[in-house]
Amino acid sequence: MSHSARDAGLKLLREHAFIDGKAVKGSGGTIAVDDPATGETIGTVPDLGKTETEQAIAAADRAFADWSGRRPDERAAFLREWARLIDDHAEGLAGLMALENGKPLDEARGEVAYANGFLKWFAGEAERMLGETQDSPLGHVILTFRKAVGPCALITPWNFPAAMLTRKLGPAFAAGCTAVVKPASQTPFTAIALVELAHQAGLPKGVLNLVTGDAATIGGVLTASPVIRKLSFTGSTPVGRILAEQCAPTLKRVSMELGGAAPLIVFADADIDQAVAETIKGKFRNSGQTCVCPNRIYVERSVARDYADRLAAEVSKLKVGNAFDDGVKVGPLIEDKGIDKVEDHVAKVKAAGGEILTGGERHDLGGRFFTPTVTFGGDDALFREEETFGPLVPVFAFDTEDEVVGKANDSDLGLASYLFTRDLDRAIRIGRRIEAGMCGINTGLMSTPVAPFGGVKQSGYGREGSTHGIDDYLDIKTLTLKLG
Ligand code: ADP
Repeated sequence: MSHSARDAGLKLLREHAFIDGKAVKGSGGTIAVDDPATGETIGTVPDLGKTETEQAIAAADRAFADWSGRRPDERAAFLREWARLIDDHAEGLAGLMALENGKPLDEARGEVAYANGFLKWFAGEAERMLGETQDSPLGHVILTFRKAVGPCALITPWNFPAAMLTRKLGPAFAAGCTAVVKPASQTPFTAIALVELAHQAGLPKGVLNLVTGDAATIGGVLTASPVIRKLSFTGSTPVGRILAEQCAPTLKRVSMELGGAAPLIVFADADIDQAVAETIKGKFRNSGQTCVCPNRIYVERSVARDYADRLAAEVSKLKVGNAFDDGVKVGPLIEDKGIDKVEDHVAKVKAAGGEILTGGERHDLGGRFFTPTVTFGGDDALFREEETFGPLVPVFAFDTEDEVVGKANDSDLGLASYLFTRDLDRAIRIGRRIEAGMCGINTGLMSTPVAPFGGVKQSGYGREGSTHGIDDYLDIKTLTLKLG
């Protein structure tokens, strides 16, 4: 058990929101945050509502003219200083995240580095917001500039408490936007600690505000406000739909990074050991609770059973436990209803004639722990539309390329996809045919600040990270110059 990271995390735990540079406790109630491994309360955050959300919006509005008017290199310098402080506090941030989210400590450490990568990357992008010049057919000269869209609302989920926030705040700040952040109620402390470090790094008051409380109330105020010019949301498809609708009356810019039901396809010519290892990396990250986790595995029939048996043998070795215990690879799920869903999916595989190769039940540790599970056969239809969001790998056999591409694409969702083959021609051919925003070829991990991240169909729109991630926070301003 690593006590030092946990203790360092507790030192960063703050039980307040941030409005206009000040810590805010509010006058109402509080919301308890628990450790998903034990169910014990680790702290509370204020249950803020309409009044405080409006105050946060007003603060973001007041701060906008100054912040967006600064030179991009000044904003870049701030992002670099914030990133330096995050590096200095990396162990505490990882401890705090592991405590409130339940992910194994090493994964939490990895997320802090990943999250900070967005600030470092977008510090560079701040200095590369290039405009264009063009001769017009009317004889004018056209100049374009890129300008911050305005104050933004950023709503983030619990599965990556740091990275989902910096993936939005990095480009927002680089562009010159101000922000009101609503972190997930299950994991607010990592976000609060990051906001505190931002202020220590010299961020002017009002540029970054964070409100905690009832999600629907806060979301309703943020989306209705004409001051907020953009919403960036990462979360479930049903909530994304509600928010998009709420943004329509004020015609806000909206970015949506929603659920996926990622297919992972293994062809007989693949390196099966590599496919097994990469499936595990992709599937068991955050205990199966990521929107890019492989949700359904399709393996060419001649190697399907071999792949499934090898996968089950490896998965059965994964150590389940508390985030701070040595060697743990799979933590608890965030909520009881997450466990219920995995159990339901396992039951449906069994009912459809699938076999359980390993796991299949709640873990002996009890609580929110589920035994890592591999199944073989049954009906894949459920997994085309519903994310399991837990440690279940359902494997299905397929016969032809067209059949498997048809199954992969027979979904309303299209975020990530994965393909294992040694045939380059096939990799590119199928990689292009799959209806998903991203396709990992011979890899189960593809998230990095430098790659565009985002989905198609009902997995959302907009791209985060990469050179494109800043675009959603910028408007193009055109100046047309008539030369004398
Ligand atoms: P998940 O299944 O990952 O919890 P949600 O879409 O429920 O996904 O939550 C993602 C984020 O959206 C969280 O910060 C949550 O509090 C917030 N949220 C949930 N419902 C609403 C809503 N009606 N309006 C605004 N935000 C919401």
